[in-house]
Amino acid sequence: MKNPFEKMPTILLADELIDKAFRRAEKAASAFNPRGSAVSKARQREELRVRTVSNVIRDNLRKILDRTPGASTLPPFYQELLDTLVDKKTFHKALASINWAIKTIRTLEERYVEKIRYSRDPKEIAQLRRQFYGRVASVIKDIADNLEYLNKARDVLKDMPVIDLSLPTIVIAGHPNVGKSTLLRKLTNAKPEVASYPFTTKGINVGQFEEHWMKYQVIDTPGLLDRPLSERNEIEKQAILALKHLGKLIIYIFDPSEYCGFPVEEQMHLFEEIYKEFGEFPFIVVLNKIDIADEEKIKKIEEFLRAKGIEPLKISAEKGIGIEKLKERVIEILKPDMEAIARSTGKIEGE
Ligand code: GDP
Repeated sequence: MKNPFEKMPTILLADELIDKAFRRAEKAASAFNPRGSAVSKARQREELRVRTVSNVIRDNLRKILDRTPGASTLPPFYQELLDTLVDKKTFHKALASINWAIKTIRTLEERYVEKIRYSRDPKEIAQLRRQFYGRVASVIKDIADNLEYLNKARDVLKDMPVIDLSLPTIVIAGHPNVGKSTLLRKLTNAKPEVASYPFTTKGINVGQFEEHWMKYQVIDTPGLLDRPLSERNEIEKQAILALKHLGKLIIYIFDPSEYCGFPVEEQMHLFEEIYKEFGEFPFIVVLNKIDIADEEKIKKIEEFLRAKGIEPLKISAEKGIGIEKLKERVIEILKPDMEAIARSTGKIEGE
């Protein structure tokens, strides 16, 4: 699945929309050459203006509704993101106001066309048309704030993920500089794509790897799972919730070399937090940088983990040590998910 907001159209602000509609109406009217009496000509010309203004505005607004998915139709991950980024309720209200404007302008159009058709006075006809313009402008001004909000929301939402929700996703966690992005690159054999999200200053690294014709996704969220919970703000907490909808497995990285700048005790503390926070997830714990790590520190972390019944893998992301084994463990854990996906897409038959 792609970014569901990819097709959201550019959203004109109230003044821009009004200007555009009035300009188009003038253009249409000046190209129009009606026949008949003065009254008949006036009626035809003004009706054309009224219809054009209504059409231009309604088409523009309709396009917003048609190309913007409603919050409740989205997968949970995107609902969470939407809420984090632009506030789901405000978003919904803004779209509802657009719908209201479309209907109101349609009603005004019918009412004024009828009045124009019944009038016998060219002056009155022109006045009716001006009245219609005024009413339309005021409807659009009523939704000006919503248009402005949607215009901004679009900019944010268009930049949303390159994350593929259909793939089982592995989330990498651990302190900064323990080797998360190095491991991601190693696992996915790809230069990670960086999607920017407002809730992390550094964006999100996404990569994929394929094994037995099945694709796996690995993501690393700098600034999100690398600090104690207490230091996270509301938005980040929601982002973590979004990760929970997306992730299937956590790879937690320790750096026993401490070159990352965090003593192993501190790393154990963060691990406790993430382990608690993501309690329902399977974890793979790795000790990275074994090419330079101290045996004593390795032992210390191993003991700490063993007390929790966790057997860590020793790797060097940079030197490529232990990566195959790590992949095997990932695949083993995700096997049931993969089989479910394969069954639903018909890749495995007769099971
Ligand atoms: P992140 O902040 O967790 O994403 O960490 P990085 O992947 O940017 O790695 C931080 C530093 O550790 C970089 O200079 C890496 O080259 C280095 N590094 C990562 N893995 C290893 C490893 O296995 N061995 C050694 N010696 N250095 C590593």
